[in-house]
Amino acid sequence: MTAFLRFGYVNYTPDTEVVRFIRGLREGKLYGTECVGCGEFYFPPRSDCGKCVKGDGMEWKEISGDAKLVTFSISQFAPKGFEKVVPYILAVGQLKEGPNVVAHLEGVEKEEIEIGMDIKLVVKEIGEDRYIYVFVPK
Ligand SMILES: [Zn+2]
Repeated sequence: MTAFLRFGYVNYTPDTEVVRFIRGLREGKLYGTECVGCGEFYFPPRSDCGKCVKGDGMEWKEISGDAKLVTFSISQFAPKGFEKVVPYILAVGQLKEGPNVVAHLEGVEKEEIEIGMDIKLVVKEIGEDRYIYVFVPK
């Protein structure tokens, strides 16, 4: 099995240069990449920098997961592959490291959600050796 088949409810991505990301998930760690050329930080990780396009390489860095809730939406209907998890809260959180990340927000009632609240991005195992990342309240 290619490593990326371990990520997500539905797999959209073939094996790539960012396979280290998947190894991190198995250890409960989330890794992003930082451009050596310009310092731009990416999560999920990218193997090339879209900002400076210098090709100086990327440095792998474990992220803290600490984030602030930017916005959210509650999905009552799901695309193929997500039928078992509706309704779910889809959130955008800004990581302490900079990037905005889209992920499910779990472990919180909708009445408790506040824009700007502290949340944390964590690894969740959704099946045997299969993972996603989700936001939880901090
Ligand atoms: Zn760059």
